[in-house]
Amino acid sequence: MKPRLIAIYTVIVVLPLVVLGLLGAKLARDERAVFEHRLSQVILDQLRVADSEIARVVNQWRQVLGADLRTLPQEAGELRERARRSPYVSHYVVLHPDGALVYPSPVETPTDDERVFLERTREIWERQALTHEQDTEAVPPPQPGKFLGKGAVQIAIPQGKGATQSAAPPPSNDGWYTWYWGDGTHFIYWVRGEDGFIRAAELDSARLKSDIIITLPDTLSDVPAPTESRTALLDSKGVPIYVWGNYAAADAEKPRATLPLSYPLGGWSLAYFAPASQLDPGLSLGFLFNVTAGVLVVVVTVIALAIYFYRESSRDMREAAKRVTFVNQVSHELKTPLTNIRMYAELLEQQIDEQDERPRQHAGIIVSESQRLSRLIGNILTFNRKDRDALRLQPLPGVIDDILAEVIAHYRAALETKGIEIFLHPDAPSHVLVDADLLEQIVGNLISNVEKYGAMGKRLDIHTSWKDGIAAITVEDKGPGIPPSERDRIFQPFYRISNGLTDGVAGTGIGLTIARELARLHGGDLIVEDGEPGARFRLTLRCPLAGDTA
Ligand code: ADP
Repeated sequence: MKPRLIAIYTVIVVLPLVVLGLLGAKLARDERAVFEHRLSQVILDQLRVADSEIARVVNQWRQVLGADLRTLPQEAGELRERARRSPYVSHYVVLHPDGALVYPSPVETPTDDERVFLERTREIWERQALTHEQDTEAVPPPQPGKFLGKGAVQIAIPQGKGATQSAAPPPSNDGWYTWYWGDGTHFIYWVRGEDGFIRAAELDSARLKSDIIITLPDTLSDVPAPTESRTALLDSKGVPIYVWGNYAAADAEKPRATLPLSYPLGGWSLAYFAPASQLDPGLSLGFLFNVTAGVLVVVVTVIALAIYFYRESSRDMREAAKRVTFVNQVSHELKTPLTNIRMYAELLEQQIDEQDERPRQHAGIIVSESQRLSRLIGNILTFNRKDRDALRLQPLPGVIDDILAEVIAHYRAALETKGIEIFLHPDAPSHVLVDADLLEQIVGNLISNVEKYGAMGKRLDIHTSWKDGIAAITVEDKGPGIPPSERDRIFQPFYRISNGLTDGVAGTGIGLTIARELARLHGGDLIVEDGEPGARFRLTLRCPLAGDTA
C-alpha cells in the first residue's frame, strides 16, 4: 500500500476513535457530576430527616412548656417548688409588661441557686433581650445545607420545602431565646400572657438533649447500613453532642456535608462524614459496559468500512491497471502492422505514375493517416510507461536541420492538403548528439497540432538554431493561437482548451504533456511564446557537439 493511502486510512480509523475517546471522557465527567449531585441530595435529605425529627421534639417541648407557663402560680415559693419538681424546667422567670424582673426578684432575697441564675442571665434582663432580640438576633436565620464534595469544592444545596416551613418565625406572643454560657447552650421559652406579663422557663438542657438523642438513630441497634457513614449532632462550638453511624471518622476529618438545625436550634448543626471511596462514583459496571459496547461497535464499523473502501479502491486500481496494460498491449500489437502499412503506402505512392493524380492522392492519405496513428500510439506508449523516469535517452550523432527536414517531409502531404505552407529556417547544421526519435515525437506532436488547430493561418514556420550545446527549435503558426491564461494548462495531462477550435477535432490532451516531458528528459524544455498572431512553441534540447566527449 502507498504511504499516502496508509496515511488516509490511518486518519479514517484514528480520527473517529479519538473523537470517540473524547466523547467517552466527557460522558464519564458528566456521569460523575450527576452522581455527585444525586449523592449530595441523598445526604442532605438524610440530614433533613434528622433535623425534622429534632424539630418535632422541640415542638413537643414548646407545647408542654406553653401549657405549663400559662398556669404558672404567682407566689415565689410555689414557683421555686414547681421548678424543682419539673423534669423540663430548671428556672422560671416572670417579667412585668414594662420588662422589669418580677421573679426571681433581685431585691427580694433570692436563693443561692436563683442568685447564680440571675448573675449569668443579668444581661438578658437588662437588655430586655428576651422579647426584643429574640426573633432577629439571638436566633440566626436558617442556613442552607452545604455539601462538601471531594476536595475543596463546596456545593450549596437549596433548602427543601420542609426546612423552609420549620424556619417560619414563631408567633409574637411566645418565643425562644438561646445563648451560650459556660458548659454549653441554654434555652429559654417564653409566653406573653393576656395580662401583658411574660412568663419564661429556662429549659433543662440535659433533658432536652437526651430527648433529642432518643429520637435519633442508634449505631448499635441500627440495621447494618449498606454504606459506611457517620452523622454528628454538633453544638454551636462544633462540639459533638451525639454521633451515630458505622464509619470511624478521623479526628481532623472534614465533614462531607453540613446542615444547620431549624429554629430555635440554629446554632447547632448536623455533620455528615463518609470515606472518600463512597463519594467516588468510579465507573459503574453498566456505564462501562455501555461505553465498551459502543466503542467496540464503532471500532468494528470503522475498520469494516476502511476494509470495504480499501478493497473497492484497490479493485478499481487493479481494473484501471488492467485497462492500461490492455491499451499498452494493443498499442504494441498495432505498432508493427502500422509501420508496414506506412512503409508500403509510401512505396506505393512513389510507384504510382505522377499522372495518376487520384491514386497518388489516395496513397498520400493512407500515408498521413498511418503517420497520425503511429504518433498516437507512440504517445500512448510513452504516457503509459509505468515508470516514466525509466524512459531512456538514446542520443546519437545527427544534424538537427536534417532530422527536421525529414520530419517535415513526413507531414508535408497532410499539411498541404489543408493548404498549409511549410517554411523551414535551418540554422543548426552542426553534428550533435541527439535522440532523433524523441525529437521526431516532440516536433511531430507540434506539427500535428498546427494541422489540427492552426490550419486557418495557412503557414507553418520552423526555425532552428544551436548555441553552446543547446538546440532551439520554434514551431510557429498563424492560427488563432493560445490565450495567455491557458498557456500553462495545455501541458497538463488530458487538458484540452474548450472552444470552437477543439470541437469536433480528435485529440486526447496528452500530446503536449508528452512533448514537454520528453524535452525535459533531453535536458531542455518546451514552452509557449507570444505568436502574434498564432501559436509559437519554443523547444530547447541539450545537444552537445558529436565530437565533444563532455
Ligand atoms: P490534443 O491535441 O490531443 O487535444 P495536446 O496536448 O496536443 O492535445 O494539446 C492540448 C490543447 O492545446 C489542444 O486541445 C488545443 O486546444 C491547444 N493547442 C495545442 N496546439 C495548438 C495550436 N497550435 N493552436 C491552438 N491551440 C493549440
